[in-house]
Amino acid sequence: MLVIALTGGIGSGKSTVENLFRSYGIPIIDTDVIARELLSDNSAIKKETINYFGQEITQENGEIDRSKLRTLIFDDEQKRNALQTILHPVIHQQTLRQLEQLENSDAPYCVIVIPLLAESNHKYPHHRVLLIDSPESLQIKRASTRDRSTPDQIKKIIASQASRKQRQTIADDVIENDGDLTLLRQKVNRLHEKYCSLSASEQEVNS
Ligand code: ATP
Repeated sequence: MLVIALTGGIGSGKSTVENLFRSYGIPIIDTDVIARELLSDNSAIKKETINYFGQEITQENGEIDRSKLRTLIFDDEQKRNALQTILHPVIHQQTLRQLEQLENSDAPYCVIVIPLLAESNHKYPHHRVLLIDSPESLQIKRASTRDRSTPDQIKKIIASQASRKQRQTIADDVIENDGDLTLLRQKVNRLHEKYCSLSASEQEVNS
C-alpha cells in the first residue's frame, strides 16, 4: 500500500488535513494520538514520565497535565530530549504495528502523521513525504488561538522544531496552508486524486 508521511510544524494545519483525508475513507496513523494514549493509559511509559518529571506534572486525578508537560519541555532542551527518549521508541514500534494491520486494507493509500519526521532518528517506512507548510505568522496566530497559548510560547516551540527549510528538503509534496479552509480542501482533494492514481499505477506494475 502506498504510504504517505504527513509532517509540518506546530499549527501548520496537520490535523485539519488529516481529517480531510479521513473524510475520503483513508486510514490514518497519528503518532500524536499514540503519544497521547501512552501518556494517559496506565502504562509503563506514563510511570516512567512521572518518575522523570516528578509529581508536579500530574493533576489531582493522577492524569498527566499535558499542557504543563509541554511548557516544561519547551523551556528546557534536556527535558525535551528526555521525553523523546522515553516516548519515541514505543511510538515508533506502535506505528509499525498499526501499519502492519493495514496490509490487507482495500484503501488506495494510508497516511502516517509524524510531526517530528525531520527531527526523528527513527525510520518510518513511507513512499512520499507530504509537508503542510504555513507562514510562521499564521502558525503563531492559529496555534495560539486554538490552545490559548501566548504567541511567545508558540514562538518558543517553533524555534525548538526543525525549520521550514529543513522540512522542505525532505518533502515530495507540499500543501501551502496560507489561505482559507475552502482553498485547503481543494488542495487536499487534488492530492487525494494524485495519490489514488499513483496507487493505481503501482498496482498495475505489480499485477
Ligand atoms: P499542532 O502541531 O499544534 O497539532 P496542527 O498542525 O495539527 O497543529 P491544526 O490543529 O490543523 O494544526 O490547525 C491549527 C488551527 O488552525 C486549528 O484551529 C485549525 O482549525 C486552524 N486552521 C488550519 N488551517 C486553517 C485554514 N486554512 N484556515 C483557517 N483556519 C485554519
